[in-house]
Amino acid sequence: MSAKTITREDCLKYDADDPLAKFGERFVLPDGIIYLDGNSLGALPMATADRVKHVVEEEWGIDLIKSWNVNDWFHLPQRCGDKIAQLIGAEAGEVVAADSTSVNLFKLLAAGLRMRPDRTVIVSERGNFPTDLYIMQGLIDMLGGRHELRLLEDGQDIAELLDDKVAIVALTHVNYKSGRFHDMKAVTRAVQDAGALMMWDLAHSAGALPVDLNGANADFAVGCGYKYLNGGPGAPAFLYVAKRHQDETHQPLTGWMGHAAPFEFVTDYRPAQGIDRNLCGTPAVISMSALEAGLDLMLEADMTRIREKSVALGDLFIELVKQECAEWNFGLASPPAEQRGSQVGLTHEHGYPIMQALIHRGVIGDFRAPDLLRFGFAPLYIRYVDVWDAVATLKDIMAKGEWDKPEFHAKSAVT
Ligand SMILES: *Cc1c(COP(=O)(O)O)cnc(C)c1O
Repeated sequence: MSAKTITREDCLKYDADDPLAKFGERFVLPDGIIYLDGNSLGALPMATADRVKHVVEEEWGIDLIKSWNVNDWFHLPQRCGDKIAQLIGAEAGEVVAADSTSVNLFKLLAAGLRMRPDRTVIVSERGNFPTDLYIMQGLIDMLGGRHELRLLEDGQDIAELLDDKVAIVALTHVNYKSGRFHDMKAVTRAVQDAGALMMWDLAHSAGALPVDLNGANADFAVGCGYKYLNGGPGAPAFLYVAKRHQDETHQPLTGWMGHAAPFEFVTDYRPAQGIDRNLCGTPAVISMSALEAGLDLMLEADMTRIREKSVALGDLFIELVKQECAEWNFGLASPPAEQRGSQVGLTHEHGYPIMQALIHRGVIGDFRAPDLLRFGFAPLYIRYVDVWDAVATLKDIMAKGEWDKPEFHAKSAVT
């Protein structure tokens, strides 16, 4: 045992050998903070503040409305989309940045149902992120109750839910709680063999691990701009439609930005060719510029290296919790690395106050009811020594019983 004990010095050595270490200084991270919540809100890239300042002061302030052309605001959704495409195994012209993940789910679920008019079932999973399920419920309600939602239970095989009534299957690739990911290729094939369409939610995948939508032959995907893509709070999300479907998808939010000729101002809607028809209204220029700064930084890094470091950080965290915190009986809610995204969940009956005590000490993760402490490891700015220091802090909080102070039991609106 003692021969295998991991020390803080070991972690410093891993950092010295880390090919991604140089990315750390490209982010603004306050002193004394260990930020293990990049899966929920990515950290601020150094370049973003200057980019936003430029967009506001020069482009908006001086070029005013001319900016739609001279600063090419008009093509921000496609330009960001093409950059995201490189991170998720899609081609240029298959992705646009737009709206929120929730809205994009609505658009593509509706488009998918329209492509399978004889089928009435949407399949998802009980453990999905709630907004995905809520959007499905709202869409079904809007369509008059002819459709139904069928839910995969934890550990159940997707094949058990598939039959000739299923129109579309919409799953989140990396589960937001456990971090467990689906086998994208195998699930997509099973779904398509049953005649249904496959949509992936990449909220916890894009920028966190290699994704190959085209390699898996996915039909649709959506994802989030403010998590591992570091686009900033409320950043625009993205959507993907495989090339082969683009001219047969009709999403219902037929705003003018999805029109074939928005500036002809004609009375009747006519969808644009290609991915553009999935846009709705005017893009959020300032926040999409911030997203683009995050994407440019992400594209400088190699996704294979990001994955290697993500696995190493997660494994190190799990090992250190075992080594340092065994006596407090934390449960491990995440699978081994082969099935895990870039986050690790621990369970504990006092999860909420323990997380508040950690945050008070500068170790920022988050809590998901009922008992999950969630720790995200964004490989571009988390160091191995941060993992050591985070676990040392956890140990100290537990050993001193610090988590049990009344102030750490008070619930905030956002956990
Ligand atoms: C974070 C997340 C969302 C967020 O949706 P918003 O519309 O941005 O609020 C959606 N789905 C999943 C799976 C998520 O993890």
